[in-house]
Amino acid sequence: MAKYVCDVCGWIYDEEAGYPEGNIAAGTKWADVPADFVCPLCGVDKSQFSLVEE
Ligand SMILES: [Zn+2]
Repeated sequence: MAKYVCDVCGWIYDEEAGYPEGNIAAGTKWADVPADFVCPLCGVDKSQFSLVEE
């Protein structure tokens, strides 16, 4: 499971946790998050997110 960070505001999408508030189930791969997903904090699209290296 990976994490992706919004390059604009730093909000993190964690594949393990999903984003239930946005109807994205826990365990949803970033690739499977809908293309129209936007950052909950700042509203940018998926292209503005980067893989978090751990
Ligand atoms: Zn953001």
